Amino acid sequence: MRYGIDLDGVCFDFLNPFREHLNGKFDTNLKEEEITSYFWHENTDGFNEKEFFDEFHKFGKAGSYRTLPVLPGTLDALERLVNAGHEIFYITNRPEYTRQDTIDALRENNFPSNKNLFFTKGNKSLIINKLGIGVFVEDSETVITEIADNTDVYIYCVDYPYNKDIERVNVERIKDWDDFLLAEAI
Ligand SMILES: [Mg+2]
Repeated sequence: MRYGIDLDGVCFDFLNPFREHLNGKFDTNLKEEEITSYFWHENTDGFNEKEFFDEFHKFGKAGSYRTLPVLPGTLDALERLVNAGHEIFYITNRPEYTRQDTIDALRENNFPSNKNLFFTKGNKSLIINKLGIGVFVEDSETVITEIADNTDVYIYCVDYPYNKDIERVNVERIKDWDDFLLAEAI
């Protein structure tokens, strides 16, 4: 089986480093559980949409994607997948300017099959169908909806306050990588 793996919110903790960056910049006290939208400016009066996206790009261009913490259980789960004979492909909507930081982070953290890295611009379904991916692990509600609309892939949604509204037949909610391994019996 070919597995498609999202990076931020699935393999890397993007939320907390960026949350701390925004809280420092705007003197806000945004907490993880308050982020109920993928567009965080909708969850606070502390910054507006333009400020949110300006800081998002500043954060990324400062090399932050090179040093995001790896989420617990990630490497163990990915190695188990590969050892069980499966193939893994990392498919991310990160901006193009993060490419080298992403390559470096995957290598430095010893991610298996780290050459299987694809950057998309919103429509992951194209590459999922092209590669013949059977299972995808994702956290973005927008991306999950796009994949569910345009592929037959089975989707694991990593549970966050910002993706509680998803109700699709091909989507299974998981807390963490342990849940994933249990569900996939790996
Ligand atoms: Mg993500």
